[in-house]
Amino acid sequence: MSLEKESLAILRDALDVLEKGFQDLPAYQPAPDMEALRSVMMTVADKMQDNYPYHHPLYAGQMLKPPHPIARLAYMLAMWINPNNHALDGSRASSPMEKEAVADIAAMFGWESHLGHLTSGGTVANMEGLWIAGCEHPGKAIAASTQSHYTHHRLTGVLGIPFIEVPVDERARMDVDVLRRLLQREDIGTVVVTIGTTATGSIDPLPEILALRDEFDFRIHADTAYGGYFALVDNLGEEARAAYDLLSEVDSLAIDPHKHGLQPYGCGCILFKNPAVGRFYKHDSPYTYFTSSDLHLGEITLECSRAGASAVGLWATHQMMPLVMGGTLANGLSKGREAALDLHRRLENDSRFTPAFAPQLDIVVWAVNGQTSAEASWRAQQVFDACAANNLHLALVKLPAKFFKHAPFSVDEDTLTCLRSCLMKPEHLEWMPRIWDILDQSTAIILDEGGHPAVKTAPAPQGPDYKD
Ligand SMILES: *Cc1c(COP(=O)(O)O)cnc(C)c1O
Repeated sequence: MSLEKESLAILRDALDVLEKGFQDLPAYQPAPDMEALRSVMMTVADKMQDNYPYHHPLYAGQMLKPPHPIARLAYMLAMWINPNNHALDGSRASSPMEKEAVADIAAMFGWESHLGHLTSGGTVANMEGLWIAGCEHPGKAIAASTQSHYTHHRLTGVLGIPFIEVPVDERARMDVDVLRRLLQREDIGTVVVTIGTTATGSIDPLPEILALRDEFDFRIHADTAYGGYFALVDNLGEEARAAYDLLSEVDSLAIDPHKHGLQPYGCGCILFKNPAVGRFYKHDSPYTYFTSSDLHLGEITLECSRAGASAVGLWATHQMMPLVMGGTLANGLSKGREAALDLHRRLENDSRFTPAFAPQLDIVVWAVNGQTSAEASWRAQQVFDACAANNLHLALVKLPAKFFKHAPFSVDEDTLTCLRSCLMKPEHLEWMPRIWDILDQSTAIILDEGGHPAVKTAPAPQGPDYKD
């Protein structure tokens, strides 16, 4: 057993309560074709078996994890109404919930003022951040690091804003010395600071970048799509902590509740420090706003129709797990981070592997040693496949070879394919011995074969069944 189903009974009870709100209406009983529903749903369930087990602790690869049951249930409950958070007419309950949930997020970063809303994801959240940046500094460039999310480059193309790439140091963080030289030379209006890069979870040096802002006048947009929630965590390194403590100083910030905020996909968030940027969103829709003079979220969003259910899921999650240090959500993130530190220690003590720099969040990247970086790349792929055959799902990532400065292999290419693990679930900590056993045995088989491409599978270690 690995899927949680018990909570479905609560959904049924909650639907009864929801229905009571509409009991004054004349009787109306929708009657879908139950036989067809059943038949198609069984086909869907059958098709959905074709997935990696994202919900299980042995899935430790990409940034994927299932939503918390409270988010799942609240989202589903809202589906029976299907509110649209564009205008208040379409979302009388869920628009206020969105405003509250977004204010909770702003408070998590210590913001005293904000204008913000949910988006369909981090990409759109970042796009709105960059769009406003361009409105505030027309004609000036936006700079982001070579390890920033690839969409920043693409989005500046969409927005017609010049883009400047800033190199990174040996720990995948924006190189501040180069940034300074670029600021002297180029017309840079905004710097994107990534707090938790997608590949390695690295944190750009925000304190130093803020110091540069005092000298050169530019906007800061923080891309915390992945890392934002780690603001709540008590086991960050000193450098990372210093960056998080200064997130109150940035001009705009993107965060993804659908990454570490336990939400289903379709939930990003953009925040602006200065509510006056709302003027750039101003439009004159002839048909959507008629019932109240309160703020309709559609007046401050680029997207029009948006899932009210996303706001309901997020709001409900905050009621059950407030965004506070020491809370359940924070403790879950701390455990993932501890799991990452544990894995990093094990890798450091094993001569078959070279981990890159120590993880700043919960993402670990490491090379499988060989004679050359090309052989290391090939071996990473083999170990990846062998682990998958034993139900341990890791990820592969291509990174600059300079991240592996201490590796024993010669470097014949600028980049190297290595293994990557996003330890996003609290259960990863408890499961680390098991994860390690599979990695250890799978690697042993690949290395014993001395470079033969055929992959044998190691017997899977026995252990307790996983339960959600
Ligand atoms: C995931 C991610 C994005 C993109 O967000 P989506 O929700 O996938 O659209 C942007 N920036 C960073 C740092 C990310 O990790």
